[in-house]
Amino acid sequence: MRHFPVFVDLKCQRVLVSGASETAAAKLRLLLKTEALIEVYGEDACDDVRKWHDEGRLRWFPKPLPAAALFGARLVYSAHDNAEADAQVRAMGERMGVLVNVVDNLGLSQFITPAIVDRDPVTVAIGTEGAAPVLARRIKADVEERLPTELGQLAAIARHYREAAGKLPGGRVRRAFWSHFFDTDGPAALAEGGEEAARAALERLIASYAEDAPACDPGRVILVGAGPGDPELLTLKARRVLHEADVVLYDRLVDPRVLELARREAELIEVGKTPGGPAWKQHDINAAMIEHARAGALVVRLKSGDPMVFGRADEELDGLDAAGVEWDVVPGITSGSAAAASSGRSLTRRGRNQAITFLTAHDAQGYAEHDWRALAQPGNALAIYMGLRAARFVQGRLMLHGAAPETPVTIVENTSRPEEKRVSATLANMCERISEAGIVGPAIIFIGLPARRAQTLETEPRRQAV
Ligand code: SAH
Repeated sequence: MRHFPVFVDLKCQRVLVSGASETAAAKLRLLLKTEALIEVYGEDACDDVRKWHDEGRLRWFPKPLPAAALFGARLVYSAHDNAEADAQVRAMGERMGVLVNVVDNLGLSQFITPAIVDRDPVTVAIGTEGAAPVLARRIKADVEERLPTELGQLAAIARHYREAAGKLPGGRVRRAFWSHFFDTDGPAALAEGGEEAARAALERLIASYAEDAPACDPGRVILVGAGPGDPELLTLKARRVLHEADVVLYDRLVDPRVLELARREAELIEVGKTPGGPAWKQHDINAAMIEHARAGALVVRLKSGDPMVFGRADEELDGLDAAGVEWDVVPGITSGSAAAASSGRSLTRRGRNQAITFLTAHDAQGYAEHDWRALAQPGNALAIYMGLRAARFVQGRLMLHGAAPETPVTIVENTSRPEEKRVSATLANMCERISEAGIVGPAIIFIGLPARRAQTLETEPRRQAV
């Protein structure tokens, strides 16, 4: 995003337009909707500019824009249809520290005006950074169609009642109240009895929600699988609840692109362990979930991969059950599945391995002990989570219990992310391969599964096939 969208307060601010032709008039039509003090400079003014001047809606000066006029101005539009004149205005703006837009010239402009859907006070701004004005117009037409014209009126009424509505419990109750007003009661009352009726409807609704609030749907917690990284690997359900959540408690491994799908107003709280940083204790995470849910919030507990795989889901659900808080679980794609997909090797295969064991190389005490003799049998493949630091230990245990040194090993780091690395190795050299490739995790180590795709990808960018 090169152009950052902002809404600038133009009330009583001077906005200058250099040029008074039809090109200038097109911009002025938009600017006249604002409360800016508009000054137009240019000798040959078109009829509209003269008319607006006569009506006192702007001031027209029949002369070129003088540099001194820029002093204290908020914005400048240059509308000369002439590269040299426009460049001069741009240079003037630069000297005086005022942002300049050159009409229809993206390269010379320091800001651009988006396509606008106007339902004042609701304004939708659409920008394509100049890449596809046609697309912007199409989106604008779509949005125009979807936003009823009375939306602005309803929003203006709502603005007066914000404080009163602010006394309703936050989160879902308040959201339900506003949707009730904007979707049904508001438009109906407006259609029937105009603004007066819409106001009355809003007051009635506030009273009824205030009364029912304690009985309103209590909050709940949804454990949601964020998948291994790529937001496209989220389930539709995960996407939906993430968008509805009031509070999102997320782990460190959750990809930032997934977090962007949360509502802007949602409270995002990182509860993961950052290496070296403060760590949330399980007890504190449970307490936070419970507290927010009891306050009526829809809480999404977002975990990397699948919450049911090495995600301490049971401990969290136990805590919620004990507190009598309702919960649900939305599964996700575990990193073992995603790593198998990207290395092009199925987790099981007739005749090769009929079983796959997902294991963690770490537990609360340190390296995790397993039935290594059983795990070392050919016919069983391993998907090791949290295995990097314990790689030497796992290798030693497996070889001690008879696994062949040439057993194929695949290590997949940051699976499904742009920086993904896949490395092929054997049981005998896996530790060296891990350090040679600079793998620091998060990574899955497959033992007994050779990669099909690319031997080592340390130097190659990830193939973006899908
Ligand atoms: N619930 C998660 C696992 C959490 S345990 C899941 O289902 O995937 C954390 C471990 O998961 C990491 O140490 C690493 O082994 C693995 N992991 C998580 N994200 C990963 C990713 N994008 N690529 C490779 N491994 C990942």
